[in-house]
Amino acid sequence: METWRLLDTGPRPAAENMALDEVILTARSRGEIPNTLRFLQFSPPCTLVGYHQAVEQEIRITYCREQGYHINRRLTGGGGLFWGERELGWEIYASQDDPRFAVAVEQLYERLCRGGIRGLEKLGVQAAYRPKNDIEVEGRKISGTGGTSMDGAFLFQGTLLVDFDVDAMLRALRIPTEKLKDKEIASVKERVTCLAWELGSAPPLERIKAALAEGFAEVLGVRFEPSDLTPFEEELLTRRLPYFQSDEWVYGIRRPLEQRRVLRALYKSSGGLIRVSLLVNERANHIREAFITGDFFAYPRRAILDLEARLKGAPADVEAIRHIVEEFFATGEVEIPGVTPADIMRTIQEALEKITYTRYDIHPDEMNHVFSVVKSVPDLIERGFTDTESPAPALLLPYCAKLPTCALRYEEGCLQCEGCGIGDAFSLAARYGLTPISIQNYEHLEETLERLKAAGHRIFVGSCCEPFYAKHRDDFERIGLPGILVDVDSSTCYDLGKEKDAYAGRFENQTYLKMDLLERIVRHISNGRRGQDAR
Ligand code: SF4
Repeated sequence: METWRLLDTGPRPAAENMALDEVILTARSRGEIPNTLRFLQFSPPCTLVGYHQAVEQEIRITYCREQGYHINRRLTGGGGLFWGERELGWEIYASQDDPRFAVAVEQLYERLCRGGIRGLEKLGVQAAYRPKNDIEVEGRKISGTGGTSMDGAFLFQGTLLVDFDVDAMLRALRIPTEKLKDKEIASVKERVTCLAWELGSAPPLERIKAALAEGFAEVLGVRFEPSDLTPFEEELLTRRLPYFQSDEWVYGIRRPLEQRRVLRALYKSSGGLIRVSLLVNERANHIREAFITGDFFAYPRRAILDLEARLKGAPADVEAIRHIVEEFFATGEVEIPGVTPADIMRTIQEALEKITYTRYDIHPDEMNHVFSVVKSVPDLIERGFTDTESPAPALLLPYCAKLPTCALRYEEGCLQCEGCGIGDAFSLAARYGLTPISIQNYEHLEETLERLKAAGHRIFVGSCCEPFYAKHRDDFERIGLPGILVDVDSSTCYDLGKEKDAYAGRFENQTYLKMDLLERIVRHISNGRRGQDAR
């Protein structure tokens, strides 16, 4: 029977663990080591972004620094992760030449996840594979996985939640503020699980590791022999560690472009969230820089960097860019599971389209604060009312923009007492004949959109923060009522360093409507409507 190395590198800081990923993958690709199963832990706790993500967009940097959490970047794609000291990581390093692993990425994920599932079974937990890359227990995720490859070797890694701290994760990662409410924390708890919750208490780590090793041995048909890092790996680790500790690695690889004059758009594909930022030279009409980030997995890992390089200097023209994107994928050498060329193109097109927003008095520094669902902003403003019989649009306003002390904070409506911007928005709605509705929570939003659609509405206008839009864009699209949303100015309790007050119930966050921008959009939509009425 084939022998693999069993390597337990114990608790280490994030930079060391990330450097070891590269070191061991390099050693495997050069044939210096056999196929390996590695167990890893993190100490101190840390947050890790996926290879294609920007730290500033995913992590509450100030909060993590205050807590002593390390911040680092993985070699693999995927989303932001919080790692407590109790969680366990497992990793498989193997040769891509091995016929057992020479399959499409998604099949490889499934095959390797089976080892983790068998290991969980040995601990008394019945788990199952959830495409594309999770292991779940009755619908709740217990292990997320991902991989990357290098010169003929691949790394496939997974997290195993042992005794998970949901609150710590919500504080450390930039998750929409709605999730900071008790109800939302409860809903996260309904979507994830850990060994401690499944078994009543967390088994000793040594038992968990032994069960996982047995599971992988059975599924892969191999035996494991415990061994340490080789002198080659130790030496390479010493050389590579400073790079993995550097800002260049942690922040530099995916630093968002300067905010000014950058056109941004995001799209939730089935392979993950795609964010596109384009720095466009409007006079010469070409793309100066393109930046594509997200929680997807790309094979090879540098594929996205190569695509960005091809877009640099390209004409700022949808058809020219479509040609570049399609040609790039047509080589067949790039695989981004769940992300199609059309998904990337759609996001780029949305970003590029923002150049035209000046027609509607939306200034360049405001363009990224306007989002649309189902249809594009120009489509909605210019052709939103082909049917003059349709009711006037509703103006949907978030409860979090209400004064925290308002008696109606958690109820629908507004007395227009001038205590906050919601009163101004109600006046705006009255001036333009719109129906204002203050939205109390996500379920209320969904019900309202369904009701408006059923009543024949063709369009809505609303306000929400960008993280909420990113998280729920696919829900808006599913419901299918076209709309334009304007960003809010907001600071979460974490941004303000008031999380303790929030948990003691003494902090109430208030967001602020961008009334001026909202009014210009409502005016343009109303003009379009009046134009339609006159025709
Ligand atoms: S304007 Fe409306 S929402 Fe704001 S405090 Fe007054 S009643 Fe409450």
